[in-house]
Formats: sequence, structure tokens, C-alpha cells
Amino acid sequence: MLSTTDIEMNPGQREKYSRQILFAGLGEAGQEKLLASSAVLVGCGALGTVVANLLIRSGIGRLRIIDRDFVEVSNLQRQTLFEESDASQSLPKAIAAERRLRAINSDPKIEGVVADLAPQNASDLLDGFQLILDGTDNFETRLLVNDAAIALDLPWIYAAAVGSYGLTMTIRPAQTACLACLLEGEDGSKIAGAEATCDTAGILNAAAGVVASMEAAEALKLLAGKPEALHGRLISCDVWSGKFQSLRVARNPSCRACVRREFDFLEGDVQPHITMCGRDSVQIHERGRKLDLGDLGRRLSATSPEVRSNDFLLRFGVPPYEITVFADGRAIIKGTQDPAIARSLYARYIGA
Ligand SMILES: [Zn+2]
Repeated sequence: MLSTTDIEMNPGQREKYSRQILFAGLGEAGQEKLLASSAVLVGCGALGTVVANLLIRSGIGRLRIIDRDFVEVSNLQRQTLFEESDASQSLPKAIAAERRLRAINSDPKIEGVVADLAPQNASDLLDGFQLILDGTDNFETRLLVNDAAIALDLPWIYAAAVGSYGLTMTIRPAQTACLACLLEGEDGSKIAGAEATCDTAGILNAAAGVVASMEAAEALKLLAGKPEALHGRLISCDVWSGKFQSLRVARNPSCRACVRREFDFLEGDVQPHITMCGRDSVQIHERGRKLDLGDLGRRLSATSPEVRSNDFLLRFGVPPYEITVFADGRAIIKGTQDPAIARSLYARYIGA
């Protein structure tokens, strides 16, 4: 982990964080370390909004928030940083979260990044932080984060929630089991419901809240310099049945990622350019360069009557499909699950 210089608190900060400083596990020294600390959050949905909210209020020094998506009305039930106006404006989640968090606490440096974490950008986006936080909703991205974290020698906290159930585990390269030890080794069966998603099985906001709160507490321990307090276990909980479990996960002595250092996900051999994104949407990311959205908007206006845009994205309808294009060249095509249709729409309207 990178070392940082602690920040000496001013009287305002001493008051702001007073109830946390009173907690014996942290104290003034822990708070000063936290104020100088940094983390990067991958994904700002049900888990990510809760983790970001808690860490910003706790007084983390610097937080980068990476998210590929925009706010929709169906997010508001559980994604606690967003409001109806964010959904009606289709603001990117990274931007809406950054704005809200700045209003909550002006101490931390907060940076929203509208991007899809991919093999090409993972090392650049994650390097330079002390900790990576999992707010993603799929195992491809988590295994990419796992590879990148091991390659960069950074701790990361895995977290997932679906239905009434959630899981979390803190991963420290070379010290604990990693996600590949868990998923690709003999313990893989411990991950129940790995294939279910919030779009198929639904999700209770309370389940996301419990798991994200545990994730935030583990982050606090690492960032405030209290690694001895980490629970060191895979914790699962079900807020509906009331069943909580905690398991010790052994390192796999021949783990692909943390022992053999074969970073298949980081090297991009296994990540497709087209991914499912919600119940009836496909994300396509085939071009490696940025798009001029103004230019595209003018070009589309000639053929597509309804082109809407904000500072971050552009949206137009090709009935029965709706296409949302981001400046980094990605598009989310709503109304299909068929990659071939998505690819053909992308080629026709956006271009290679
Ligand atoms: Zn491993």
C-alpha cells in the first residue's frame, strides 16, 4: 500500500468528525490518516452509492468514482445518492454522484469518471490509489479488478448483492485469498447465486445497504491504518431469512491470479467488446477512440428526428431501439439482447 502523510485537523474538522474520533478503534490518529487517504470505486450503483456516501461522510481524503452508466428511474429505489431530477436528465452516475457528494462534504477530493473499466484502461484508472472498492454488478469486471489489484499490489474489497442476499470479502494481494482463489478454486461453490443479477432476481435496498456498510467499515480499517481489525473472512448475509455466515477462505496454492500471476482478464483475452447491460440492453464498445458528440448530434439530426443530449451523452431513437452514446465511444442499445443487432445499429449510426 502507498504510504501517505497524515493530515493535521483544523477545528472545523475536529468537530465534523468528532463522533468518529470518539470511537476508540479510530481515534484522532486514525482520523488524520483517513483524511490523507485515497480510494477508487468501480461502479456507482446500489453498493457504490452507499459506500461512497459513507466514506465521504467519514472524511476520506480522495475518492475517484468510475461508472459507465446513466441514472434511470428504476435505480432510485436503492441507489441512495440519486434523485428524480438526475434520472429525468439522464445524468451519468459518476457525475450525479460527484455533485451530490461535494454538497455533503467539501473536504475530500472527489472525481467522477464516466467510463467502462476495461483491460485497456484499468491500470491507468486504478493506479495511484491505496484501495479499490467493488461497486460493480458482474463477475467479468470483478475478475478484471482482481487481476489489476494483484498486478498493482493494491488491496480491494469485493462486494455483491442480489435479491435479499449479499457477500463481501477483503482481498490483500499475497496475504489473503483473492477472487480467483474463491471463484476458480475448490471453494467456488460457496458463491451462491453468482449468475443471478438485479435485473433478473431483483434486489432489496436493505441487502445492498448491509453489504455496502460492511465494505465501508473494512475500507475505514485499511485507510485509517488499522489492518489488524480486518475481519479476514467471506461474509454472507440474507436480510430476509436473517441468516448470516462467515467463512475463512484459503488461498489456492496454484491460483491463476495471485500465485501464477496470469492476468487473463487484465490482458483482455476474455473480455468481450459487447456486454449485457440490464434486462434489455446491450453495451457496445468497439472503437478505441473518443467521439465528438456535437458532431455526431448534427449528423444524426438529419435522419433521426429526436436527438437529445446533455454535456455527457447523446440519445436518439431508432424504433423499437433507443441508443445512448458516450464521449468515450461506448453506446448502450436498449430494446435488444442480441449482440448482432447492437453491432449493426452501432455501425450504421455511429460508425467504426
Ligand atoms: Zn488467488
